[in-house]
Amino acid sequence: MSDSEAVEKLSERDKKHLWHPLTQHKTHSTMLGITKAQGALLYDEDGKEYVDGISSWYSCMYGHCNPFILERVMEQMQSLDQVVFSGFTHEPAVKLSEELIKILPENQEKLFFSDNGSTSTEVGIKMALQYHFNKGGKRNVMLAFEEGFHGDTFGAMSVSGLSVYNGPFEDFFIEVERIPVPTSENIEPLLKQLKKRMKKNNIAGFIYEPLVQGAAAMKMHCAEHLEKVLSLLKEHGVLLIADEVMTGFGKTGRYFASDYLETKPDIMCLSKALTAGLIPMGLTTCSEEVYMAFYSDDVTKGLFHGHTYTANPLACTAALAALELLQTDAIQQNIQEISAWHREFDEEIKQHPQVANTRQLGVIYALDLNVQMERYGNLRDKLFKHFMNHGVFLRPLGNTIYILAPYVTTKPQMERIYSAIRSVVGLV
Ligand SMILES: *Cc1c(COP(=O)(O)O)cnc(C)c1O
Repeated sequence: MSDSEAVEKLSERDKKHLWHPLTQHKTHSTMLGITKAQGALLYDEDGKEYVDGISSWYSCMYGHCNPFILERVMEQMQSLDQVVFSGFTHEPAVKLSEELIKILPENQEKLFFSDNGSTSTEVGIKMALQYHFNKGGKRNVMLAFEEGFHGDTFGAMSVSGLSVYNGPFEDFFIEVERIPVPTSENIEPLLKQLKKRMKKNNIAGFIYEPLVQGAAAMKMHCAEHLEKVLSLLKEHGVLLIADEVMTGFGKTGRYFASDYLETKPDIMCLSKALTAGLIPMGLTTCSEEVYMAFYSDDVTKGLFHGHTYTANPLACTAALAALELLQTDAIQQNIQEISAWHREFDEEIKQHPQVANTRQLGVIYALDLNVQMERYGNLRDKLFKHFMNHGVFLRPLGNTIYILAPYVTTKPQMERIYSAIRSVVGLV
């Protein structure tokens, strides 16, 4: 390596060949080089540390480079790295199915693997459509919430309501109808409207992020109203697809957001914290009834969907280790503690005149700043820079600041997040 190569920073070398996700490169040309991560901390190439206040998109919930998970995966990779999951099976997948079933809502019986959150919802949508097709029904419309987010593949994009970036693709979407998230104000008219809509008998499935809509800036709705919507739809044969890619694995204070609801989903989508952020994997789980609609002497009734890395043994091992950690007293106690710290912080910050609204469920905390729309423009960038200068990685959405830090975040680390937010609230 020549001297000039040795000193050239990652952020510079990056510019030559890399195309980043969700990025307009003309206006955002520089990426920060990250060289190390440990627990709740990230380190950049200049050695500056940041508290990962969003667990790298809600995945590294047990902390980065968690030694317990790393050890399990390192052991697994000595014996079986990867094998086709069609015609073959292996211990990590079998064991994961046995362990996960124990904590999933009690009607969930079968697990279908894929690679990420988008593919987990894509599979959920295909399951719902083919379920009715196999049964000879003519249900070809999907129902979804306004402002929902379910991923970036075509089916997932179609059902996502946050479509500002989806313009070029809209002509190719599957058929979707949208309903507003239920509130105290709209619940009665909404139920009435749905009841009427059910007469047409052509809705195959309803996909929803239960209780918290992550990409819509952690918007929350209450279980009581969602319950009414779900039970009405279920009564009319609409398959319920709970997208718990964000809410799954303890973040809401229960294992799954669906645990707050009486009406259980027919299908569930999982990813993100599933493998603790170590290796990408998606899971679509379903009830016995859904599975049986595909179980037939007729081969074409099967679910012909499959990815090369389906049920990768290393990803399954990471998921198993994460699942074991999630159920320890230590992690459950961390979840309680962080929830209590957030409540305390909330008591203080919600009084501030610049804070319009706050909300919390488990370790998920969000606040909306009271800002004029004309100041909205580059607010996100300004906030982001302010936080990074304070050694805190948060990704504000519009005027919303939210925290979803790893379960292993220490009190001083969380305090650093709170104090960065206090100082920003004073600024606007
Ligand atoms: C992140 C997310 C997805 C998409 O997952 P990817 O792994 O990014 O494809 C789908 N649904 C929800 C609720 C998510 O938060």
